Amino acid sequence: MLQAEHVTKQFGDFYALHDVSIDVSKGRIFGLLGPNGAGKSTLIRIINQILQSDEGKVIFDGHEIRLSDVEHIGYLPEERGLYKKMKVGEQALYLAQLKGLSRTEAEKRLRWWFKHLEIDTWWNRKVEELSKGMQQKVQFVTTVLHNPKLLIFDEPFSGFDPVNATLLKKEILRLRDEGATVIFSTHNMSSVEEICDDIALINHSQVVLNGNVKEIRQSYRKNMFHLEIRCTDSRTITMPTEFVVTNGKEEKGVYTADVSLPPTASSNDLLSAVMSQGQVSALQEILPSMNDIFIEAVSRQ
Ligand code: ADP
Ligand code: MG
Repeated sequence: MLQAEHVTKQFGDFYALHDVSIDVSKGRIFGLLGPNGAGKSTLIRIINQILQSDEGKVIFDGHEIRLSDVEHIGYLPEERGLYKKMKVGEQALYLAQLKGLSRTEAEKRLRWWFKHLEIDTWWNRKVEELSKGMQQKVQFVTTVLHNPKLLIFDEPFSGFDPVNATLLKKEILRLRDEGATVIFSTHNMSSVEEICDDIALINHSQVVLNGNVKEIRQSYRKNMFHLEIRCTDSRTITMPTEFVVTNGKEEKGVYTADVSLPPTASSNDLLSAVMSQGQVSALQEILPSMNDIFIEAVSRQ
């Protein structure tokens, strides 16, 4: 649905993006992950034609992106902005009509969303009376209201408490399931892996890793397992010396440990080694977090 191809952007002689390519498939959630200053917002602004790239191009639905494509894109910019003095409902109606909805249709959809997100009591309040998180919810609604086929959210979770961040994730998943394609950025890598289908990790203006989240996590797996064993007495669990045990401890009759296996061994070998010593109550693979993967990808580069 959208490709950025070899996009480069300089501010003076500083490279904000250096030969960046991403490929966003239709109907999926694509996460642009990376620390502050990596270049995420610059790429998003180029996609939204607020900035022009110096080199490379953006392809939308098979053609080089043009201004008329903007009507198919819902964009939540990093720098939020609602008019502080205006009432919430009035403002949302106004913004919805700018996106081409009739007043009646806009009001119908807005009333549904406001009820759905439990913000309907704010309709007649002034924007300035709302907390940052509340304003974010309103702006999120105005971004998605006209059902654009591509949604681009720049740091959508910043300013949200964990409860509302979870709520927003659910809404993003629902929009995807209803057919939208979603691109979003975040500097908080650990918080998003559960909602992304695909990701690009960006560091210092370059893509250091991209692809399907499940495949990436599998390819960075460490053959490490979390183990729990119920033992009748507090004896120590013994293992072959090539199994590296960390955090091993026995507490209230339960032995827990993280075990790193050599490449030649599997979880079944671990199970065989310990099953005669107690009742195995848990054996779970430890997959690296997106943060761990990012650090490793940067150091491999
Ligand atoms: P991110 O969104 O990943 O935090 P940005 O894309 O906002 O990063 O910024 C990438 C880099 O480009 C930063 O070092 C930033 O200071 C710089 N930059 C962004 N916009 C401008 C601009 N208009 N003028 C000069 N430098 C900029
Ligand atoms: Mg940014």
